[in-house]
Amino acid sequence: MFRFSAITEMIVLGKPDLVLIHPPSIYDFREKTILYGPISDVIPSTPIFEMYPLGFISLMGYLEYNGFHVHIVNLAVKMLRRRGFNPEDYLSKIEAKAYGIDIHWLVHSHGGIEVAKILKKNKPNRPVIIGGLSSTYFHREIIRNYLEIDYIVRGDSGEYPLLKLMECIEDNKHPIDVPNITWRGENGKIHENPLTYVPESIDKYTINYEYAVRNVVRHLNIEDYLPYGDWLSYPYCALITCKGCSQNCITCGGSAYSFSKIYGREKIALKSPEVLVDEMKIIQSYFKSPIFLLGDIWQYGDEHGLKILKLIRREGIDNPITFELFKPIDMGKIVEIERTCSEFSIEISPESHDEDVRGAQGRLYSNEELERMIENSLNHGCVKFDVFFMIGLPKQTPKSVTETINYCDRLLSKHSDGRLHTFIAPLAPFLDPGSIAFENPDTVGYRIMFKTFNEHREALEKPSWKHYLNYETAWMSRNQIIDSTYNAARAMNDIRFKYGIIDKNHYETIRMRIDFVESITRRIDELIAKNSSLESLREYVREMYSILCPREELKSVPIARVKWVRGGLTLMLKYLRII
Ligand code: SF4
Repeated sequence: MFRFSAITEMIVLGKPDLVLIHPPSIYDFREKTILYGPISDVIPSTPIFEMYPLGFISLMGYLEYNGFHVHIVNLAVKMLRRRGFNPEDYLSKIEAKAYGIDIHWLVHSHGGIEVAKILKKNKPNRPVIIGGLSSTYFHREIIRNYLEIDYIVRGDSGEYPLLKLMECIEDNKHPIDVPNITWRGENGKIHENPLTYVPESIDKYTINYEYAVRNVVRHLNIEDYLPYGDWLSYPYCALITCKGCSQNCITCGGSAYSFSKIYGREKIALKSPEVLVDEMKIIQSYFKSPIFLLGDIWQYGDEHGLKILKLIRREGIDNPITFELFKPIDMGKIVEIERTCSEFSIEISPESHDEDVRGAQGRLYSNEELERMIENSLNHGCVKFDVFFMIGLPKQTPKSVTETINYCDRLLSKHSDGRLHTFIAPLAPFLDPGSIAFENPDTVGYRIMFKTFNEHREALEKPSWKHYLNYETAWMSRNQIIDSTYNAARAMNDIRFKYGIIDKNHYETIRMRIDFVESITRRIDELIAKNSSLESLREYVREMYSILCPREELKSVPIARVKWVRGGLTLMLKYLRII
């Protein structure tokens, strides 16, 4: 692929005002001996968590609309795709008036800070800004301890505060009146502006993929904008339907409790159906990719969900759509989805087969409701139905995990035509800061191993995922969580093969990987106990092994049916029309 060098970009296109950089979870992951385990096996990212937050797209769109030129650099993808790529060299050459780094998910606490250090070393006078929910949660500790960070944009909607901050940076002023900013001023004095910007409407902050397309063409560089490593072979586009959540799952840092207690949001902000469907239209005009609607469209009543479906029909959106559901929906809604979508899939996370465990986690519905919905959906055109279970829940024991696998077996025996998929994964690597379980561990049966930002950052350098899990429960120790994960992975692999979801080749590959990863986990423990070097394991852990399912199984429609709407040339012509 033709790629402008950073310097050519600068000369031809002018220096961006702001470069948003997505770091790898662990900065020097290519040099370290770390067994990542199955911490990202059921999401599109690798264990490096190379997928940047959707907020990057809305931040870029909002700032560009207001006259700032913003460029995104997915540094994690660059490092994954090219072994010879030198991130320090690259970062030292990117020119901008300011740099933004996401530390939204706590797994980026290591990579995010290391990238900030490199930027500050090379451009000591350029501001470094971080943002995201984890940055917000730990803002005091971060600004106190990491001198390379100049500003932290707090809260769940950084667009407006970041715009005002950029205006201050451009005018060489301190952001004294800008809401939600923690910053370092004269003589290193720390300021904490109040968290007062919590918008009730998020309609201004659209996820407009057109800005990304436009910048890809402008820079003739698609790699910087790739949301995850294999996006080009399987492009799906996600949209958020709300900020905040109506639910209170106890291990989630995005729950109603967490938003209210930590992020100042007392009320969920729903994106209006009109804006959501406009965003879908933009996606449709560029890609025939699946669209993933994040956040249950039914969580604030039937009327809202029905309106979204009505507008999708009116606008003739025919991309495959994946709906995330927080609880089962009735037959009427499934029929509405069927008559709206050319192709649709559903994702739901009952977490456990055991209603008692599920209820303790905060999900209050029965297996009967779940099974009825699966049946109705598959009878009404659902092309793929994914059911996610978890390990590390309140009241969950190793025996209960085994029973969850038996439950999956029963579900698949009833629906064995290949459209129903069951997944199980550990809650890893971190229980979310700000979640009910993190804030009040004793009351819900959790023990938290690391509390501070720095403890989590250091934990990410430990040699295996077992050592950086930040919790155990009253019902399962860390060791039991790890062992249950490997046992569940094995049993689920057997079931997948039994029902023809995977072929023999996949089955054997995954079985071998599980045995291998389990033995490496034990070996690491032995070497640590003897205080020996882990160097001998280095070449074995370099690979990132998916052990919970083949990665293809996560895709919401079969890969052959995803195609680009237009070729690269047409994208360019479209771009030329819109500027
Ligand atoms: S896990 Fe639960 S609380 Fe968190 S976003 Fe999903 S439904 Fe809401």
